[in-house]
Amino acid sequence: MVHHVTLIPGDGIGPEVVHAAQLVAEATGVPLEWEVVEAGEAAIRASGTPLPLAVLESVRKTGVALKGPITTPIGSGFRSVNVALRTELDLYASVRPARAIAGEGTRYPETDLIVVREATEGLYSGVEHWVDKEHSAAETVNVITRKASDRIVKFAFELARREHRKKVTGVHKANIMKTTGALFQTAFREMAAQYPDIASDERLIDNMCMQLVKKPSEYDVIVTTNLMGDILSDLCAGLAGGLGVAPGALFGEKTALFEPVHGSAPKYAGKDQADPVAEILSLELMLRHLGEKEAADRVWRAVWEVISEKRVVTYDLALPGYTQRPVSPSSCSAMAKEIARKVPLVDVTSPLPRPSARGTSGGSDSLLETG
Ligand code: NAD
Repeated sequence: MVHHVTLIPGDGIGPEVVHAAQLVAEATGVPLEWEVVEAGEAAIRASGTPLPLAVLESVRKTGVALKGPITTPIGSGFRSVNVALRTELDLYASVRPARAIAGEGTRYPETDLIVVREATEGLYSGVEHWVDKEHSAAETVNVITRKASDRIVKFAFELARREHRKKVTGVHKANIMKTTGALFQTAFREMAAQYPDIASDERLIDNMCMQLVKKPSEYDVIVTTNLMGDILSDLCAGLAGGLGVAPGALFGEKTALFEPVHGSAPKYAGKDQADPVAEILSLELMLRHLGEKEAADRVWRAVWEVISEKRVVTYDLALPGYTQRPVSPSSCSAMAKEIARKVPLVDVTSPLPRPSARGTSGGSDSLLETG
């Protein structure tokens, strides 16, 4: 069956890493028909708006999108296209697995976490204003609703159950934010009681950051609100090997969008130096969502092999300091070609490789299958 997929190349390093993912997709042999639409800076140049209606229409039609990062002007300019896409398409569940790959590029080879983040409200609701004409004070409204909190916490527990995960940790700041924080906390506690088969605990966001850096293997699935989830997922990406290897997915009731955790990395744009793995592993998650498990497993194995061989890796995985065996960095396109070359060759009879905490037999084989 041909899968129709919306493809949003994005800004900065976006087109390079998206092209890399397309190359790997082709190597899987899965029939994918890409519907390419522009959002972000390319869309502004072409049509004067960063998020043309055609983008939303395409994702609503195909139900699935693979996306590159999109630049958001800092401090002024247009509203984030990423935030607008999530709210317009009600992509409420941001799922960001942080899996250390072959122990490379990380001080924590055991890292195997999933951050589940509410993606439509909180401090990203866009409700903000200057208090006075002099711009000496400003307010941003933190919108937290019971409906969205219940929905995201339920999503996290269901995901934990499907993935055979042992624990869900609810993260908030209910000691200080006595309305919004407490509302999320109550939603978490009441939902946790409905999943007696899955352990649950709570952490205040500040303590959570410290705990994660000290002992990431104590945690499993983390669920939290929008801004806290954004920050925690970059932290977890850092534990697992960096933004270059951190994929992501966004789920709504009818649509799913797959994109790396990282942004458009302007300093690497057009230089063919960015790590393509985060986008390639976002493709892997997309293939699982489409029911193409065998192809997804092949992509995961190929990425794992290329990173563990450490012959053809980009600068972030070749850095001295992080690795015992520094190598000279390869280009984004060379690493993508190497992963694509491996896809049909990998040994599919051996157990799927996993971060060391889980071993090869622990955990589930599904990793975010949703179908
Ligand atoms: P960034 O993720 O682009 O970069 C942070 C650091 O990680 C930089 O040092 C960068 O060079 C490095 N990096 C990122 N991706 C990499 C890769 N694939 N390989 C190797 N190194 C990589 O974050 P930023 O600099 O804070 O943001 C740049 C722009 O991206 C901003 O406009 C921001 O709004 C946007 N952004 C978009 C998304 C998205 O589209 N989902 C997410 C985050 C940031």
